[in-house]
Order: sequence, then structure tokens, then C-alpha cells
Amino acid sequence: MNKKFWIVFFLIDILLIAGGIFWFWHNRDTDHHQDEVHYHAGFQVYVDDVKQDFSDFKYMKIEPCGTDHSQGDDQLEKAHLHDNIGDVVHVHRDGATWGDLFANIKYPLPEDVTGYVNGQLVPKILTMPIIANASVVFLAGENTNISEKIAARVSQERIAEIEKKSEKCGDE
Ligand SMILES: [Zn+2]
Repeated sequence: MNKKFWIVFFLIDILLIAGGIFWFWHNRDTDHHQDEVHYHAGFQVYVDDVKQDFSDFKYMKIEPCGTDHSQGDDQLEKAHLHDNIGDVVHVHRDGATWGDLFANIKYPLPEDVTGYVNGQLVPKILTMPIIANASVVFLAGENTNISEKIAARVSQERIAEIEKKSEKCGDE
């Protein structure tokens, strides 16, 4: 065996290993993208002491049951409402923010809206990612009895119940 042969052999080996590593990382990224993201969070919005009702059809994303959420409009898949349930958001993209929800349901909130996540005041709430199973109370305008509103936020049981329902595709 001459030296040249070993050098070529060695280079081919390196290429195969590099190719393997590249393939692994490439697939890993692709799989990550296609993984079905699906989580939920509770929310309520008060404007001047009036609780807003988002259960109307106009706020709903209407689609056939079992729709593949990894396809479709990325903005709409970030955060939307289903099944005339107006207080639990469905998230199908990592990093979706509360601002994405209100943009998608076409309900603009003032930028200085106040948000309480699980009872804690969070600044700039509209730019914050929606956290799985969090329960947020939004306050816009003039509000009184704030601690009562926060205490009456969407419960963990309610979020879990909606999650269970949506996993079964709505039919029980
Ligand atoms: Zn869901």
C-alpha cells in the first residue's frame, strides 16, 4: 500500500463522517420543525371592568377536525381559538406570543395593556410568549377590583379539560 492510497482513504473517511454528521443535524432540524406543537393557555380580557367574550364564531379558527397543524398559515397556527371556546388559546408554533393571538383574532389591545400571568404582573405582556397552561388576565382601560379579577382567572382544570377535548377531536 502506498502513502497516496492511505491519504485518499483517510480523506474519504473524513467526508463520510462529515456527511453523516451533517445528515444527522439536518434531519434533527427538520424533525423538530415538523413535530406537532400543541399546547394551551387560559386568558381573560377586561376592558373598563367589562369582561370580553371571545366565544363568538368570528373569533374562531374553523377547520375540519384532525387538521394537520404543521401545515398551513404559520401566523394563524401560532395561536388561535376553537370550538366557540373563548378563554383557552391553542398554540401550534413555538414562541407564539399573546400579541399573535390578538392579531389573529383581530382584536387589537392597546400596547400598554396590563397582563397578570398566574397572578403575577408581567410587563409588555403582548410581546411575551404564551406559556403552556398559564392563565393570563389582561386589563385595558380603567379597572377596579383587580385582585378579584385575577383570582377569577381561567383555572388549570378548565385548561386541562379543553386540552383533553381537543385531543379527542371534539367528540366525546
Ligand atoms: Zn388545542
